[in-house]
Amino acid sequence: MYDEIRQFAEDHQATLVAVSKTKSVEDIMLLYQMGQRIFGENRVQELTDKYELLPKDIEWHIIGHLQKNKVKYIIPFIAMIHSVDSFDLLEVINQQAKKHNRIIPVLLQFHIAQEETKFGLNIKEANKLLQDAEDHKLVNVEICGVMGMASFTDDQVQVRNEFRALKDYFDTLKNCYFPNNEAFKVISMGMSGDYKIAIAEGSNMIRVGSAIFGARPGH
Ligand SMILES: *Cc1c(COP(=O)(O)O)cnc(C)c1O
Repeated sequence: MYDEIRQFAEDHQATLVAVSKTKSVEDIMLLYQMGQRIFGENRVQELTDKYELLPKDIEWHIIGHLQKNKVKYIIPFIAMIHSVDSFDLLEVINQQAKKHNRIIPVLLQFHIAQEETKFGLNIKEANKLLQDAEDHKLVNVEICGVMGMASFTDDQVQVRNEFRALKDYFDTLKNCYFPNNEAFKVISMGMSGDYKIAIAEGSNMIRVGSAIFGARPGH
């Protein structure tokens, strides 16, 4: 399955983030030996443990909700944070990044699914966040795009519409805040069950776990 998904991503100029949450360092090494270098995790503790044990040329992405008090643990090595959903969090990332003399690539997480969840911005909140960011000149973060998760449903039309909404948010923000900014280009959407729809709707970064590594416990 990995080869197939990697090929599909490559054919569509999309970056493949292999989501390795709950998987062992041995499982990750198998994929590493096949050439995969970008891995995604959703918990800080698990991520820092794996970072210590695994090759240092892995690019680690955090894709899960990030608490402000845990930012400091990942700042020295994190390659991208997908889950920025408040200005406060962005400020903390900026502050910590400054201490390490780094500029951290981040994505704004949108709430596009029907399911109730605490996490993710709507377009109004994103506008406010970006205005605040401009006012505060946060030079140690680089806002590179958007991220979202579609509803967990078999209704492909709904999933497609949710991805389309995220692509629209991306285009709106690009025009408004980043017209000449090459870095703002990432649309992180699509998981094991829906990455083909996501790519058809404009995704250029897919986050795939179970289709590569097998089902996780509890799924
Ligand atoms: C777990 C997770 C994924 C991968 O999910 P799969 O269905 O296993 O591919 C992608 N994105 C986020 C934010 C996740 O938490």
